Amino acid sequence: MQGCLYVVATPIGNLGDITLRALEILRHVDLIAAEDTRHSRRLLDHYGITTPLVSLHAYNEQGKAPSLLKELQAGRNVALVADAGTPLISDPGFPLVAAAREADIPVIPIPGPCAAIAALSVAGLPTHRFAFEGFLPRTQSARRAHLRRLKAEPRTMVFYETSHRLKSCLEDLAAVFPPKRRLVIAKELTKLNERLISTSVGEAIELFLSNPEWLKGEFVLLVEGANETESEVLTEQQRHVLELLLEECPVRTAVSLAAKITAAPHKTLYRAALSRQKKIETLS
Ligand code: SAM
Repeated sequence: MQGCLYVVATPIGNLGDITLRALEILRHVDLIAAEDTRHSRRLLDHYGITTPLVSLHAYNEQGKAPSLLKELQAGRNVALVADAGTPLISDPGFPLVAAAREADIPVIPIPGPCAAIAALSVAGLPTHRFAFEGFLPRTQSARRAHLRRLKAEPRTMVFYETSHRLKSCLEDLAAVFPPKRRLVIAKELTKLNERLISTSVGEAIELFLSNPEWLKGEFVLLVEGANETESEVLTEQQRHVLELLLEECPVRTAVSLAAKITAAPHKTLYRAALSRQKKIETLS
């Protein structure tokens, strides 16, 4: 008999945000794999749960996954928790879940809090489709390059950010996105200093500089997606693919292949191809 791996969501601030099922699973499994055992012990103590903990964090998870897999194969039930929210969502756990799935071990979700979903549910930005981006790259040049690729993204974009990089992140958003784009910042959700700040990409920095106490805490940033006119602008990558194809194929084929490869609108690609052709004709 194999054990089960339970992927258990835990609170993102308010200790009351844990499901009855999560508590039952945490109480009855043989082992809890936790990102930070001291942090999770506080949650477990609060609910009188004494299940043994082992650490599974970003720096040891590749090495630890095989031994946890052995525990599961030996019939022990294991719960996976992160410091806050849903494991694997910008948190450790992927190697263990992938290995367990590969080994045909039942992997069972115990759903609950997730900062991105909580923020989306209250931001007032479109939610029927959204793009979860997690943390942006660490360096400014990589961050801006990444944001430039998202400039024409029509879905609401969701980013995670910590207090020490919030200001730079707001600066980078302002450098790349049009100033009028709506920006909602969900700060310290479910905690004492919870705040939902609705602003725009162009005004956010001023707002935070005049309220410096807002810069502390944990944040979810939600950026409104591009409108139809903005989506008609090709990203650098889409333009590059189109140009490469135009060098090899007739316009119609190049446009149709570029649309398939880059998911850019057919109409926008076609217009860009024609304007490129015109430029070439004028030059020759
Ligand atoms: N797994 C978690 C989840 O399900 O949301 C996310 C973990 S990630 C390491 C931590 C980031 O999530 C923080 O830097 C912040 O961007 C966001 N976050 C977590 N808790 C939050 C809260 N209470 N309020 C706002 N953002 C939060």
